[in-house]
Amino acid sequence: MDLNKKLDVLEKIYKIYDDFAGNLDVACKKYCYTCCTRNVTLTTLEGYRIVDCLISDGKAYLFDIIQKDLHKRRFQPSITTNLLAELSIAEKDIPDEKSCYSWGECPILTDRQCPVYKVRPFGCRCFVSKHSCSEKGYAKVDEFILSVNNIFLQYIEHIDSQGCSGNLIDVLLYFESSEARQNYRDGVSNCAENNLISNRSIPALMIPPEHRLKIQPILQAILSAGSEE
Ligand code: SF4
Ligand code: SF4
Repeated sequence: MDLNKKLDVLEKIYKIYDDFAGNLDVACKKYCYTCCTRNVTLTTLEGYRIVDCLISDGKAYLFDIIQKDLHKRRFQPSITTNLLAELSIAEKDIPDEKSCYSWGECPILTDRQCPVYKVRPFGCRCFVSKHSCSEKGYAKVDEFILSVNNIFLQYIEHIDSQGCSGNLIDVLLYFESSEARQNYRDGVSNCAENNLISNRSIPALMIPPEHRLKIQPILQAILSAGSEE
């Protein structure tokens, strides 16, 4: 699948998730930004789309803002969702990865709003909570929603299996270079040299038995989004 087709599939997948999330009973609303931290992760496919928009919308100045805080701590994952699935299937140890909201806000957050809202990554779309995170100090998420989020994460990584994943900051800075963007269009990614980790195909979907029936309509929608291309 070429890059434009992958971006089309990504668009459809986001739409499926946004429709699903739009029907949830959650406390999320405009200007609520406690979940906008320096710890957001995404795939290169999503990052490429964001950087393309930053450049075409005249928001490339955000790269300088990101650079200024580069010394600050951020969550840099050591395994992707599909590698986690692989390790779980093989009953191997899962690395203990920690992140904390106290490491600071997402560097591109502007006036309590997301400047790339329409193209924000799945990692931001799937932040939902039944109660206000700022009031309680943590998010409350239904187990079924977590299962749904996992299959979306697995599928998005799968369609970008030749690419990488990592922290939003690292992925955006990686694509600041026009050479990196061209390489990515040509199917070449340099993950390890850029604080990123290699994506993988889905080994098996991580769906707990109690959610397997209920999740079918969403799963079918995701699969048909990919097969239409
Ligand atoms: S997940 Fe929490 S912080 Fe984010 S929008 Fe929802 S309620 Fe607000
Ligand atoms: S990309 Fe946008 S939605 Fe995501 S954390 Fe940053 S400001 Fe928030």
